[in-house]
Amino acid sequence: MERSLTDPVSVLKGAGPKRLTALNKLDINNIEDLLTAYPFRYDDLSVKSLDELADQEKATIKGIVASQPVLSRFGRKKSRFNFRMMVEQEVLMVTFFNQPYLAGRLEIGQEVGVYGKYDVKRQQITGMKLFTANDSDDFAGVYRSSKEIRPNTIKQLVTQAYDEYHELLTDIVPETIRTKYRLESREQMVHDMHFPASKQAADLARRSAIFEEFFRYQLSLQFMKKKNQQTSGTKIAYDNQALKKFISALAFELTTAQKKVVNEICHDLHQPVHMNRLLQGDVGSGKTVVAAIAMYAAVTAGFQCALMAPTEILAEQHADKLAELFAPFGVNVALLTSSSVSKVTQKRELLRHLAAGEIQIVVGTHALIQADVHFKQLGLVVIDEQHRFGVDQRKALRLKGNDPDVLAMTATPIPRTLAITTYGEMDVSVIDELPKNRKPIRTRWFPKAQLHEALSFLDQQVKEGAQAFVVSALIDESEMVELQNAQEVYRQMAAHFAPDFQVGLLHGQLKSQEKDQVMQDFKARKYAVLVATTVVEVGIDIPNATVILILDADRFGLAQLHQLRGRVGRGASQSYCLLVADPKNDYGKARMETMVQTNDGFEIAQKDLELRGPGEVLGAKQSGMPDFKVGDPVENLNILQIAQQEAQTLLQAPDFDQQPANRGVLNYLRRTVLAQPALD
Ligand code: ADP
Ligand code: MG
Repeated sequence: MERSLTDPVSVLKGAGPKRLTALNKLDINNIEDLLTAYPFRYDDLSVKSLDELADQEKATIKGIVASQPVLSRFGRKKSRFNFRMMVEQEVLMVTFFNQPYLAGRLEIGQEVGVYGKYDVKRQQITGMKLFTANDSDDFAGVYRSSKEIRPNTIKQLVTQAYDEYHELLTDIVPETIRTKYRLESREQMVHDMHFPASKQAADLARRSAIFEEFFRYQLSLQFMKKKNQQTSGTKIAYDNQALKKFISALAFELTTAQKKVVNEICHDLHQPVHMNRLLQGDVGSGKTVVAAIAMYAAVTAGFQCALMAPTEILAEQHADKLAELFAPFGVNVALLTSSSVSKVTQKRELLRHLAAGEIQIVVGTHALIQADVHFKQLGLVVIDEQHRFGVDQRKALRLKGNDPDVLAMTATPIPRTLAITTYGEMDVSVIDELPKNRKPIRTRWFPKAQLHEALSFLDQQVKEGAQAFVVSALIDESEMVELQNAQEVYRQMAAHFAPDFQVGLLHGQLKSQEKDQVMQDFKARKYAVLVATTVVEVGIDIPNATVILILDADRFGLAQLHQLRGRVGRGASQSYCLLVADPKNDYGKARMETMVQTNDGFEIAQKDLELRGPGEVLGAKQSGMPDFKVGDPVENLNILQIAQQEAQTLLQAPDFDQQPANRGVLNYLRRTVLAQPALD
């Protein structure tokens, strides 16, 4: 029978049902999986002499067995044996745990090698591996394993698979690219990943493996993007004159960056292709108005638009603002959240107007994706704070129209790594400049013992006419506790500021109208201070507010703190952010220090990435961050960038699928993206 890398692992000798189950649990199903289940580290097993070793260093030491091993057992599973070993005129004590069968192999006078950890003071080695013959590798891979399967068994199976299948390891990365970056052939690379002759060989192979992994990923991504661009979408032939009028009627002039992204978006709208664009801009950079311009463009071409926001408060704020902006232009804006249209008749009315096309712009929460929501002609979907929505929710909104254009907005600045990996299939527009009138927010960190200092600063600011947010701690356990905590903070603040100033309270459990009322009152300066839970985290725009005091700030992540801080500094006055926290560990301290040092969202995101790793930064579930086996997109960012460029260049060549040199690439795409059989 003909062999293929997709053969199940069961074709190998010694791969019985038990081991197969164990391998499957490690995501190893076929030969290719096994051959790319690379060691996660290598042990240098070359023999060292004692004076080369530092205390607690791991190495192989050679010597003569000088005493009969003494074995002790504890219970059924645990055991230990000791023996003395003569090494270069010294006597060391060797101890092995839980490998009793090794004791039987030892005889006094025999030469052995022990790989283990050397304790200088006690003259002792805690053994991990025992060599009784001279056949050991100097440099050996250590495999990820589990309780059910031992690393050595995996290694044996890999060896067998390599011997029988290595000729099928044909290259995916074209030769020109391999030569350019001095990468190994796939066969050599797989060999050296598993059986390197030296550390250098292992490093070289790893570099090639990382490149290949990123390159494959980028190929699929870019290929899909290209296919997506080729499928036709809606052409939104907007009225340029009307759009210009709308823009010049704004209360401010757009920043250069805003103008640039408006152009990019309008260009896409006008093309008969499907727009899938991410609008990225730091908190306060003015994304909403850009979305408003794009929506107005769609409206002038006779289309409807939907804007989805993650919280009711934010949806309401957007609806209010858009209604105000659009009122002089005769555009109907409606709000749809689960509590905004609480009466059944009211909701039925709204849905009828929407389906009839009489409402041009609907703003809402995920209530927009309910089954009974229909549009007459949905042309543009805007998703605000898009990282707060799951992939399915975003898709559900898109499906409300006939392939509408999509503009996703995020204030979570995306470091290069995440931009390339997670958003690779989207076009990205960046607002990299804040409106000119802004002053950098000043941030200070107070230990809890100095809370009074933070409060007296707050007092002074309020007396001078400032408005302030006080954010109560984030509490994971329950919303109830979080609410109680906010209420407690509210009581204290209200007492503190009475009778001169009023304090408001905003939390997630208020009804929609109540929240709206609180926000309106704060806007109208009825309250000097607004105590809030994290419901104010995203989007809230009250330019008068210039101070934010965040309690137990160490409970928040960096991205969250940056978002919270973004609630101030939205106008021309100097704004302040006061963090009150006693961080419990260095990681917490590093977060506070980062916040004090920089206002730059990109820098903060990069720091966050370094401190936490990409999986956690966006939330593993929503990030769509691929699970790379060898490459680390943060650590190996430069390789990732090169792989992206090369994949792009390759796919952009008009006849890329005709060139013999690209056969490996083509077969890879056929197998993975196109689900077609490989060419021979
Ligand atoms: P974000 O990007 O965080 O969503 P917003 O769109 O809420 O920011 O804008 C923040 C504030 O800046 C709003 O009050 C908005 O009216 C104002 N703004 C937006 N663009 C400009 C500009 N070009 N000049 C001055 N103010 C602006
Ligand atoms: Mg916003």
